[in-house]
Amino acid sequence: MNTPTYRLLCPGPVNVDPEVANALSSAEFCHREEEFEALLDQVRTRLLSLANLSPARWEAVVLTGSGTAANEAVISSAVPAGSRVLAITNGEFGERLAAIADLYHQVERVTHRWGDQIDLRRVDAALEDFDPDLVVMVHHETSTGMLNPVEQVGARVKNTDARLFVDGVSSFSADALDLDAAHVSFMSTSSGKALASYPGLSVVFGTHTAFRACSLHPRPTQYLDLFRYYDFLCTRKQTPNTPAIPLLLALDRAAANIQREGAGERRKRLAFLAASIRTQLRGLGLELLLDDSVPQSSVVVTAKLPDGVGFEEVRLGLRDLGFVVYGGKGPLVGRVIQVATIGAVDSSVIHAFTSALSRVLSDVMSTVSRRAI
Ligand SMILES: *Cc1c(COP(=O)(O)O)cnc(C)c1O
Repeated sequence: MNTPTYRLLCPGPVNVDPEVANALSSAEFCHREEEFEALLDQVRTRLLSLANLSPARWEAVVLTGSGTAANEAVISSAVPAGSRVLAITNGEFGERLAAIADLYHQVERVTHRWGDQIDLRRVDAALEDFDPDLVVMVHHETSTGMLNPVEQVGARVKNTDARLFVDGVSSFSADALDLDAAHVSFMSTSSGKALASYPGLSVVFGTHTAFRACSLHPRPTQYLDLFRYYDFLCTRKQTPNTPAIPLLLALDRAAANIQREGAGERRKRLAFLAASIRTQLRGLGLELLLDDSVPQSSVVVTAKLPDGVGFEEVRLGLRDLGFVVYGGKGPLVGRVIQVATIGAVDSSVIHAFTSALSRVLSDVMSTVSRRAI
């Protein structure tokens, strides 16, 4: 089978830098040996540094598994089974956090329509009435492109006994978040989005206090027991089970690349690319889902498709020209196109994509108008 390589403009997986691709197969060793311990230690140190977190207060635990593995590890392990969990949702990924929490806990939801901003008065009321042990929310709601007000929610959670868990799977290293200032106990991310490596690893950042508190109650999971990961890391610089070493080699390179560029410079570059794709899509006459007054990510932009234009035709047209984008989920399915500009993307890719999309849209629209005759 000769599988082509696409220009991946979806919010993960992303195209990787050749250095990251080479790192993947750069060495072979066993995870119970010194080489692995050094590698894991180096990766966690890089991740903490990229997040601007002090190792005295924070740890970064790497799991083999996509972002959802990290999310389920935190939600299942952070508080005792049957705890009160408040889920703040305004899109697909917030709803997924709530669905995971349903498996382990009593869940109260503060639900918003997709693309609506979080209503902090409703959060205040829920904190007061429900008195949660854990609050869960998404930083960058990838299904719309919106950035949620973690700092404001954190300022409120700070006045309660609850812990705050933030899903930063798609935002980490693209959109800044000060975890200390936001009073976050845990944040998850994954290797294959803005960190610009391959998918398959996820990371849980947490305070030592919050990790250690997991040991005080049974965790109703073996493989995703967050405390086991933390304990193996702290006591042996290892993981409880066999990790995906090649992916760790690649992630180490991807993280080193961000350090070389500078974390702030990387975020600026991604913000520039996101602004540029927004301008280009508007230039093609497309309306964006979120207006400029709404906080939005430097990761993905969501644009509405013209009436009568279905996502599937656009997807197939772009695919023929070598580009992969996302359609909407849930209430947005079929009605929008999502374009992510993370990974190995630069302005020339954005320009090539814009011409491709322009061609595809005019082809699809002429078919639509011929059908109408
Ligand atoms: C991608 C993503 C996830 C995790 O999805 P996986 O398929 O497990 O990688 C979780 N939350 C957000 C916000 C995401 O963008």
